[in-house]
Amino acid sequence: MNSDFTKTKAICFDLGNTLIEFGPRQIAMQYERLTTKLTEMFGSCHAAKLKEIRDVQIVAPYSNGYRENDVEECCRELIEGIYPLTATDDQVKELAEERYRTFVDIIELSDDILPLLQDLGKRYRLALLSNFPCSRSIRDGIEKLGMTPHFDAIVVSGEIGWVKPDPRPYQALLDQLKEKPADCLYVGDNWLADVQGAKGMAMQSILTTEHLPYERFEPNSGDHQPDAKISHISELRDLLLADR
Ligand SMILES: [Mg+2]
Repeated sequence: MNSDFTKTKAICFDLGNTLIEFGPRQIAMQYERLTTKLTEMFGSCHAAKLKEIRDVQIVAPYSNGYRENDVEECCRELIEGIYPLTATDDQVKELAEERYRTFVDIIELSDDILPLLQDLGKRYRLALLSNFPCSRSIRDGIEKLGMTPHFDAIVVSGEIGWVKPDPRPYQALLDQLKEKPADCLYVGDNWLADVQGAKGMAMQSILTTEHLPYERFEPNSGDHQPDAKISHISELRDLLLADR
Protein backbone atom coordinates (compact mmCIF):
# COMPACT_ATOMS: atom_id res chain seq x y z
CA MET A 1 0.00 0.00 0.00
CA ASN A 2 1.16 3.51 -0.78
CA SER A 3 1.00 5.38 2.50
CA ASP A 4 2.67 8.56 1.32
CA PHE A 5 0.44 11.42 2.40
CA THR A 6 3.09 14.15 2.25
CA LYS A 7 1.18 16.06 -0.46
CA THR A 8 -2.18 15.92 1.32
CA LYS A 9 -3.75 19.32 1.87
CA ALA A 10 -7.30 18.33 2.78
CA ILE A 11 -8.74 15.37 4.65
CA CYS A 12 -12.31 14.49 3.74
CA PHE A 13 -14.25 12.27 6.11
CA ASP A 14 -17.21 9.98 5.80
CA LEU A 15 -19.46 10.25 8.88
CA GLY A 16 -21.26 6.97 9.70
CA ASN A 17 -18.90 4.26 10.97
CA THR A 18 -15.94 6.56 10.36
CA LEU A 19 -16.31 9.51 12.78
CA ILE A 20 -19.39 8.15 14.57
CA GLU A 21 -20.68 4.64 15.07
CA PHE A 22 -23.82 4.02 13.01
CA GLY A 23 -24.04 0.25 12.87
CA PRO A 24 -26.49 -2.50 13.80
CA ARG A 25 -27.03 -1.09 17.32
CA GLN A 26 -28.02 2.38 16.07
CA ILE A 27 -30.15 0.95 13.25
CA ALA A 28 -32.00 -1.24 15.78
CA MET A 29 -32.63 1.83 17.97
CA GLN A 30 -33.93 3.71 14.92
CA TYR A 31 -36.27 0.85 13.95
CA GLU A 32 -37.59 0.71 17.52
CA ARG A 33 -38.39 4.43 17.53
CA LEU A 34 -40.11 4.16 14.13
CA THR A 35 -42.13 1.17 15.37
CA THR A 36 -43.27 3.14 18.42
CA LYS A 37 -44.17 6.17 16.30
CA LEU A 38 -46.12 4.12 13.74
CA THR A 39 -47.98 2.31 16.53
CA GLU A 40 -48.91 5.69 17.99
CA MET A 41 -50.10 6.94 14.59
CA PHE A 42 -51.83 3.89 13.10
CA GLY A 43 -52.04 1.13 15.73
CA SER A 44 -49.98 -2.01 16.30
CA CYS A 45 -46.95 -2.03 13.98
CA HIS A 46 -45.54 -5.20 12.40
CA ALA A 47 -41.88 -4.68 13.43
CA ALA A 48 -40.53 -7.45 11.17
CA LYS A 49 -42.27 -5.90 8.16
CA LEU A 50 -40.79 -2.51 9.06
CA LYS A 51 -37.30 -4.03 9.21
CA GLU A 52 -37.84 -5.82 5.88
CA ILE A 53 -38.86 -2.59 4.10
CA ARG A 54 -36.18 -0.40 5.72
CA ASP A 55 -33.41 -2.94 5.02
CA VAL A 56 -34.26 -2.77 1.31
CA GLN A 57 -34.52 1.05 1.36
CA ILE A 58 -31.11 1.46 3.00
CA VAL A 59 -29.25 -0.25 0.14
CA ALA A 60 -31.61 0.81 -2.68
CA PRO A 61 -29.40 3.68 -3.95
CA TYR A 62 -26.57 1.24 -4.70
CA SER A 63 -28.74 -0.76 -7.09
CA ASN A 64 -30.57 2.27 -8.45
CA GLY A 65 -27.76 3.94 -10.38
CA TYR A 66 -26.62 5.63 -7.13
CA ARG A 67 -29.71 7.83 -6.98
CA GLU A 68 -30.29 8.89 -3.36
CA ASN A 69 -33.55 7.99 -1.66
CA ASP A 70 -36.26 10.56 -1.11
CA VAL A 71 -37.04 10.58 2.62
CA GLU A 72 -40.74 11.29 2.22
CA GLU A 73 -41.17 8.65 -0.48
CA CYS A 74 -39.49 6.14 1.85
CA CYS A 75 -41.79 7.13 4.72
CA ARG A 76 -44.86 6.76 2.50
CA GLU A 77 -43.67 3.36 1.30
CA LEU A 78 -43.14 2.30 4.92
CA ILE A 79 -46.61 3.37 6.11
CA GLU A 80 -48.40 1.89 3.11
CA GLY A 81 -46.30 -1.30 3.24
CA ILE A 82 -47.32 -1.98 6.84
CA TYR A 83 -50.89 -0.66 6.98
CA PRO A 84 -53.74 -1.08 4.48
CA LEU A 85 -54.22 2.65 3.90
CA THR A 86 -53.15 5.59 1.77
CA ALA A 87 -50.96 7.93 3.81
CA THR A 88 -51.72 11.64 3.79
CA ASP A 89 -48.92 14.14 3.15
CA ASP A 90 -49.15 15.25 6.80
CA GLN A 91 -48.71 11.68 8.05
CA VAL A 92 -45.71 11.21 5.77
CA LYS A 93 -44.17 14.45 7.06
CA GLU A 94 -44.83 13.43 10.68
CA LEU A 95 -42.97 10.14 10.20
CA ALA A 96 -40.11 11.88 8.34
CA GLU A 97 -39.82 14.29 11.27
CA GLU A 98 -39.54 11.36 13.69
CA ARG A 99 -36.79 9.84 11.54
CA TYR A 100 -34.91 13.15 11.67
CA ARG A 101 -35.31 13.50 15.45
CA THR A 102 -34.31 9.89 16.05
CA PHE A 103 -31.08 10.27 14.09
CA VAL A 104 -30.05 13.43 15.91
CA ASP A 105 -31.01 11.90 19.29
CA ILE A 106 -29.15 8.60 18.96
CA ILE A 107 -25.81 9.61 17.46
CA GLU A 108 -22.92 9.93 19.88
CA LEU A 109 -19.29 10.93 19.61
CA SER A 110 -16.42 9.11 21.31
CA ASP A 111 -14.12 11.30 23.40
CA ASP A 112 -11.18 11.10 21.03
CA ILE A 113 -12.83 12.55 17.91
CA LEU A 114 -12.97 16.29 18.67
CA PRO A 115 -9.31 16.43 19.87
CA LEU A 116 -8.31 14.48 16.73
CA LEU A 117 -10.18 16.90 14.43
CA GLN A 118 -8.66 19.82 16.29
CA ASP A 119 -5.12 18.50 15.84
CA LEU A 120 -5.61 17.47 12.20
CA GLY A 121 -7.20 20.87 11.52
CA LYS A 122 -3.96 22.63 12.48
CA ARG A 123 -2.17 21.00 9.55
CA TYR A 124 -4.92 20.17 7.04
CA ARG A 125 -8.21 21.49 5.77
CA LEU A 126 -11.03 19.17 6.86
CA ALA A 127 -14.27 18.28 5.12
CA LEU A 128 -17.24 15.95 5.51
CA LEU A 129 -19.09 14.00 2.83
CA SER A 130 -21.91 11.74 4.02
CA ASN A 131 -24.32 9.46 2.21
CA PHE A 132 -27.65 10.23 3.86
CA PRO A 133 -30.99 11.17 2.32
CA CYS A 134 -31.85 13.80 4.95
CA SER A 135 -29.38 16.67 4.92
CA ARG A 136 -30.89 18.28 8.04
CA SER A 137 -30.23 15.10 10.07
CA ILE A 138 -26.52 15.19 9.27
CA ARG A 139 -26.07 18.95 9.61
CA ASP A 140 -27.99 19.20 12.91
CA GLY A 141 -26.43 15.93 14.13
CA ILE A 142 -22.84 17.10 13.68
CA GLU A 143 -23.78 20.48 15.15
CA LYS A 144 -25.09 18.69 18.27
CA LEU A 145 -21.82 16.77 18.51
CA GLY A 146 -19.70 19.94 18.17
CA MET A 147 -18.03 18.90 14.93
CA THR A 148 -19.34 21.57 12.54
CA PRO A 149 -16.68 24.25 13.19
CA HIS A 150 -13.91 21.82 12.22
CA PHE A 151 -15.08 21.44 8.61
CA ASP A 152 -14.31 23.81 5.72
CA ALA A 153 -16.82 22.00 3.51
CA ILE A 154 -19.81 19.74 4.18
CA VAL A 155 -21.81 17.82 1.57
CA VAL A 156 -24.67 15.39 2.20
CA SER A 157 -25.79 13.11 -0.64
CA GLY A 158 -29.42 14.13 -0.07
CA GLU A 159 -28.46 17.67 -1.18
CA ILE A 160 -27.00 16.38 -4.45
CA GLY A 161 -29.47 13.60 -5.26
CA TRP A 162 -26.70 11.02 -5.79
CA VAL A 163 -24.74 8.88 -3.36
CA LYS A 164 -21.05 8.02 -3.21
CA PRO A 165 -19.41 6.32 -5.12
CA ASP A 166 -21.08 8.46 -7.83
CA PRO A 167 -18.65 11.29 -8.75
CA ARG A 168 -21.27 14.05 -8.23
CA PRO A 169 -21.21 14.27 -4.41
CA TYR A 170 -17.40 14.09 -4.48
CA GLN A 171 -17.25 16.83 -7.10
CA ALA A 172 -19.57 19.02 -5.02
CA LEU A 173 -17.19 18.64 -2.07
CA LEU A 174 -14.11 19.41 -4.18
CA ASP A 175 -15.88 22.48 -5.61
CA GLN A 176 -16.61 23.73 -2.08
CA LEU A 177 -13.05 23.07 -0.97
CA LYS A 178 -11.51 24.44 -4.19
CA GLU A 179 -8.83 21.75 -3.94
CA LYS A 180 -7.50 19.35 -6.56
CA PRO A 181 -8.49 15.68 -6.03
CA ALA A 182 -4.83 14.65 -5.85
CA ASP A 183 -4.35 16.96 -2.86
CA CYS A 184 -7.26 15.38 -0.98
CA LEU A 185 -7.41 12.27 1.15
CA TYR A 186 -10.71 10.52 1.83
CA VAL A 187 -11.25 8.49 5.02
CA GLY A 188 -14.21 6.11 5.13
CA ASP A 189 -15.47 2.67 6.10
CA ASN A 190 -17.39 1.64 2.97
CA TRP A 191 -15.43 -0.28 0.34
CA LEU A 192 -17.74 0.75 -2.49
CA ALA A 193 -18.90 4.25 -1.56
CA ASP A 194 -15.70 5.50 0.05
CA VAL A 195 -12.71 3.60 -1.35
CA GLN A 196 -13.97 3.06 -4.92
CA GLY A 197 -15.63 6.49 -4.97
CA ALA A 198 -12.60 8.45 -3.77
CA LYS A 199 -10.04 6.52 -5.84
CA GLY A 200 -12.28 6.92 -8.88
CA MET A 201 -11.96 10.69 -8.37
CA ALA A 202 -8.14 10.35 -8.11
CA MET A 203 -8.20 11.20 -4.41
CA GLN A 204 -6.17 9.18 -1.93
CA SER A 205 -8.09 6.84 0.32
CA ILE A 206 -7.88 5.35 3.80
CA LEU A 207 -10.23 2.53 4.75
CA THR A 208 -11.24 2.30 8.42
CA THR A 209 -12.58 -0.94 9.87
CA GLU A 210 -13.18 0.36 13.39
CA HIS A 211 -16.97 0.02 13.37
CA LEU A 212 -19.15 -2.74 12.01
CA PRO A 213 -21.34 -1.24 9.26
CA TYR A 214 -24.95 -2.33 8.77
CA GLU A 215 -24.51 -2.69 5.02
CA ARG A 216 -21.39 -4.33 3.63
CA PHE A 217 -19.90 -4.26 0.15
CA GLU A 218 -17.29 -6.88 -0.64
CA PRO A 219 -14.31 -6.15 -2.90
CA ASN A 220 -14.49 -7.18 -6.55
CA SER A 221 -11.54 -8.11 -8.71
CA GLY A 222 -10.08 -5.04 -10.38
CA ASP A 223 -11.25 -2.72 -7.59
CA HIS A 224 -9.08 0.17 -6.48
CA GLN A 225 -7.10 -0.51 -3.32
CA PRO A 226 -6.99 2.04 -0.49
CA ASP A 227 -3.68 3.80 0.21
CA ALA A 228 -3.86 2.65 3.83
CA LYS A 229 -6.09 0.67 6.16
CA ILE A 230 -6.69 1.50 9.81
CA SER A 231 -8.59 -0.33 12.53
CA HIS A 232 -9.05 2.72 14.77
CA ILE A 233 -9.48 6.36 13.80
CA SER A 234 -6.67 7.39 16.21
CA GLU A 235 -4.19 5.72 13.81
CA LEU A 236 -4.58 8.83 11.65
CA ARG A 237 -2.29 10.56 14.15
CA ASP A 238 0.63 8.31 13.18
CA LEU A 239 -0.15 8.44 9.49
CA LEU A 240 -0.83 12.17 9.19
CA LEU A 241 0.59 14.03 12.20
CA ALA A 242 3.90 12.30 12.90
CA ASP A 243 6.80 14.63 12.15
CA ARG A 244 8.23 14.15 8.72
MG1 LIG B 1 -19.79 5.17 6.48
